[in-house]
Amino acid sequence: MKKDRLAGFKKRLLDKQYQLVQEVGRTALYGKDQEDDSIKDLGDQANTAYTREFFFELGNGDRRLLREVVTALQKIEDGSFGTCERCSEPIADKRLDALPFARYCIDCQRLVEEEERMTAG
Ligand SMILES: [Zn+2]
Repeated sequence: MKKDRLAGFKKRLLDKQYQLVQEVGRTALYGKDQEDDSIKDLGDQANTAYTREFFFELGNGDRRLLREVVTALQKIEDGSFGTCERCSEPIADKRLDALPFARYCIDCQRLVEEEERMTAG
């Protein structure tokens, strides 16, 4: 991969990393505020519990994405960026443009998702 193209991905990933760190931090903070309110108003407790769960899940999704972004940045450093983790073939340019933190090529992604469905179901 060309150096300037790699540098472009690195910048995008660093931006995404920064944005996610901000979001995860804000979610944690907001969750805490909700907890304090529930002590004041017990009538809203069910509602608050739902809200808290919602934000907890959002936080988990962000955290997972953050981990993927960090992994992609590590791969830029060690030179394996843009290579499928499963079949070691290059990941298509279009796919990387859409998802710079993609770990697999499109074929392997499909297989991995199928496997996840099988183990989950
Ligand atoms: Zn693959």
